[in-house]
Amino acid sequence: MSTLASKLKELEELTSNAKKIQDDMLEEILKANANTEYLRRFLHGSSDKKLFQKNVPVSSYEDVKPYIERVANGEPSYIISGEPITNFLLSTGTSGGKPKIYPTNNKYFEDFAFFLALSSAIISKYVDGVQEGKMIMFLNTIMLSTTPSGLDLAPATTSYAMSDYFKKQPSKCYTSPDEVILCVDSKQSMYCHLLCGLVQREEVVSMASSFASTLVQAISFLETHWKELCANIRSGHVSEWITDLSCRESVSAILGGPNLDLANLIERECIQKSWEGIITRLWPNIKYIRSISTGQMSQHIPTLEFYSNNLHLFSPYYAASETFFGVNVNPLCKPQDISYTFVPNMSYFEFLLVDEGINEEIVDLVDVKIGCYYEPLVTNHFGLYRYKMGDILQVTGFYNSAPQFKFVRRKNAVISVQVETTTEEDLLKALNHAAHVLESSGLMLMGFTCYSDISTNPGHYVLYWELKAKKTNGIVKLDNKVMVECCCVVEDSFNVIYKTLRSKSGQIGPLEIRVVQQGTFDSLMEYFISKGASASQYKAPVCINSPAVLAILEDKVLARFFSDKSPPV
Ligand code: AMP
Repeated sequence: MSTLASKLKELEELTSNAKKIQDDMLEEILKANANTEYLRRFLHGSSDKKLFQKNVPVSSYEDVKPYIERVANGEPSYIISGEPITNFLLSTGTSGGKPKIYPTNNKYFEDFAFFLALSSAIISKYVDGVQEGKMIMFLNTIMLSTTPSGLDLAPATTSYAMSDYFKKQPSKCYTSPDEVILCVDSKQSMYCHLLCGLVQREEVVSMASSFASTLVQAISFLETHWKELCANIRSGHVSEWITDLSCRESVSAILGGPNLDLANLIERECIQKSWEGIITRLWPNIKYIRSISTGQMSQHIPTLEFYSNNLHLFSPYYAASETFFGVNVNPLCKPQDISYTFVPNMSYFEFLLVDEGINEEIVDLVDVKIGCYYEPLVTNHFGLYRYKMGDILQVTGFYNSAPQFKFVRRKNAVISVQVETTTEEDLLKALNHAAHVLESSGLMLMGFTCYSDISTNPGHYVLYWELKAKKTNGIVKLDNKVMVECCCVVEDSFNVIYKTLRSKSGQIGPLEIRVVQQGTFDSLMEYFISKGASASQYKAPVCINSPAVLAILEDKVLARFFSDKSPPV
């Protein structure tokens, strides 16, 4: 049996035996960890499931932080974990505030490799020929740091790329050599990814990144660097500013010698006024794009569709630094229908019902109910017990006996100036509506974030937008009528409480859109990277409350627009 077929068979077996695998998983975790300092207080050495459910409390990062930090500072792993902790993962944490660190070991990297292999097997079942070509994989790494105890501390993608599991990954058929992925300078790495991808354009069958935002950045980068890339291809010489030696050497080898025809061909495509379908034009054999495009990443779907002529966008899995959760077994479904089938051998999963009025009901993986909203609780192998993920999911169905979940939103990503709460989901829906208005005037939304300005009376919502003209090098012409219309459309999409407070009692002021200069969201990313976030795991924060971040945005504001009418309730 081929590796792909065996992976699909494994998926069938795992999802058909979800209950038993989950029970065995909890038993295995408790047997290994019942005597840790953390669990002993609650279980007194027992590995009984009932006792676990009764005695072990649901935990948040603040609860486990002191234990995690003790291990990071050099105390033994068994404070939290029976198995040795060998690495710490730095979660981007940009949507929730400060970066968090999570203990882990090789099992995490094994699971990472398994999820990647599973995703390849799933897409191969639906799209022919994807195994025969190469993938442009925009994966990069940041400089490793270490904990006071000397263990590696890095984002999950960096840690994985530096692990042996990545080196040996069988499904890895990337256009970029490992040296480009391991280059810690994000600009050099991005340039080289594009150069390698362009040189091997005929062989490329897919394009990927962890999160969809990275692909939008890659296209913007291509827009500003295509002339230089063409010059490199024409001369057969890599630009001097690529100073990372191993990166430079490996890319030079791929570049081979001068290639005039290829340089002319790429130039002919890039010089065109419209970049609609640029991805399919530059990579004529591309069959799909693989990138997480649910949750806050959904705001990038229209842009990617535009650049790729509506190529299949496969959102492969739902995963975090804490654990891997589920895979998308229906890769060609519409973006709004994407669900993730939980894979039961990753961690022990429980679900906290999200329903006001009901007391903290917690159910097992196989007992969730279709249509209900839950927050997942994770008990993993590395010291997290009944840990609240802060994500809200909705059950959409079952695949064999494993439930499937739609990612709804981050729990804490809400904006509010009064008693109303506007969720990430509300904001993204509103943006989608406004995107249609923008589109009709030839503009695209490239970056977005918001904050509640309560310095005005009444307080109001401020949305920061980075806009771009659909035509290349096109100038963003801001039409007051269009922008005010966008403000109104956004408000109109909000919930009834917002509209009542805004229209009837005047407790919320007119919504404001502040248009920022191009490149602002890149500066924002650079700021977060300087604070320890990784470029490939980076997600622009949906809501902002840090004065430092607001200052970066305020510095780049070009124009302000306000809603000019109250939304009908
Ligand atoms: P990190 O640990 O920094 O990789 O961030 C993990 C978080 O990213 C999760 O808790 C989710 O909020 C978000 N995330 C991961 N996968 C997805 C997905 N498929 N769709 C939406 N959000 C996701």
